[in-house]
Amino acid sequence: MPQMSNRIHLFTDSVIRRMTRISDACGAINLSQGFPDFPPPKALTDTLKTIADEGPHQYSVTYGADNLREAIAKKAAPVLHHAVSAEDEVLVTCGSTEAMMCAMMTVCNPGDKVAIFSPFYENYMADTILCGAEPIFIPLVPPAYTFDPALLEKAFQDGAKALVLCNPSNPCGKVFSLEELELIAELAIRYDAFVITDEVYEHIIYEPYRHIAIASLPGMWERTITCNSFSKTYSITGWRLGYLIAPAEIADACRKVHDFLTVGAPAPLQEAVVTALNFPESYYQELQQIYTEKRQYFLDGLDTLGIAHNIPQATYYVMIDISAWLALPRFYNWSDLQFCEWMTETIGVAAVPGSSFFREPVHHLIRLHFAREKDTLTEALKRLEKLADYLK
Ligand code: GLN
Repeated sequence: MPQMSNRIHLFTDSVIRRMTRISDACGAINLSQGFPDFPPPKALTDTLKTIADEGPHQYSVTYGADNLREAIAKKAAPVLHHAVSAEDEVLVTCGSTEAMMCAMMTVCNPGDKVAIFSPFYENYMADTILCGAEPIFIPLVPPAYTFDPALLEKAFQDGAKALVLCNPSNPCGKVFSLEELELIAELAIRYDAFVITDEVYEHIIYEPYRHIAIASLPGMWERTITCNSFSKTYSITGWRLGYLIAPAEIADACRKVHDFLTVGAPAPLQEAVVTALNFPESYYQELQQIYTEKRQYFLDGLDTLGIAHNIPQATYYVMIDISAWLALPRFYNWSDLQFCEWMTETIGVAAVPGSSFFREPVHHLIRLHFAREKDTLTEALKRLEKLADYLK
């Protein structure tokens, strides 16, 4: 057989999505890959039914249907503090996954360096490698997930051409403060670097935290590619719809990459999601309320079981500390991946090993999510009691 490319040996498949397959095979409760088990808003699925009869069923404009781009521009303008032009500055993609890949391919040459905060969502490293670029990791140090500004500056000094900023941050639930964002912005401007964001959790955020888009800071619109998605906000992860927003010159280049990557996102789904973008403000308040209750319920349950965890400021992820189990003879020398596989099979709850997010040697954390109906969370907590029993 001829040799395949070198780049495919530089990363593995996604452990998050692998855990879902293991969970499905075991019939476990899947708290690994982050997606809700409850339906999308009814108004949205009702619209989709109508569209099934009425269309569109053919390609939309490659960079996104006009009405969808207009709705995106309208919603994003106040967040980005910029009068976003639907005509020139918005690109609809197949999920934020494609938006980020597209952004990365647009700004990176092979051999370029990309700064990534660690822990990080797996895709960022694969995206970097697929572009022939090289990641430089800046630790977000648990438990507070703060970073050392000197290390961030060093990444830029070492030539990082772009920084990936996931805010609010998967998997650690961190919301970057205004002060942190100003610091990042100052460095990005000083070292003339791009910032590629992932802001898909902007609406899944807990009091008193506030999401601030880095593109809204002075001097940042010009160099930021803001990536986002409808997956989490409208509970439609399977629709694979996302978008990016950037200044016209950058957006135009991204559109070119996108055109050849996917031609376009599914036209009927683009048409349907316009309905969601026109939801009133109360929709987002209710979403926040729903997740606030789920977070409270799940974290209280973990506390009752004596399972140590962080308190996410946003997102629907929680990091569990498994050090106490790894110290038991039963789990001697186990990796966090082994632990997660065992937990899925034996306890019946699937989690993601922390090592798939951290570049640093962190092996004592695993990620669970709580985007589940209350009954499912109750059952998951009941099963986790068996896990807690090992420590008795
Ligand atoms: N963002 C979700 C997670 O971190 C899932 C994303 C995906 O698998 N595409 O679990």
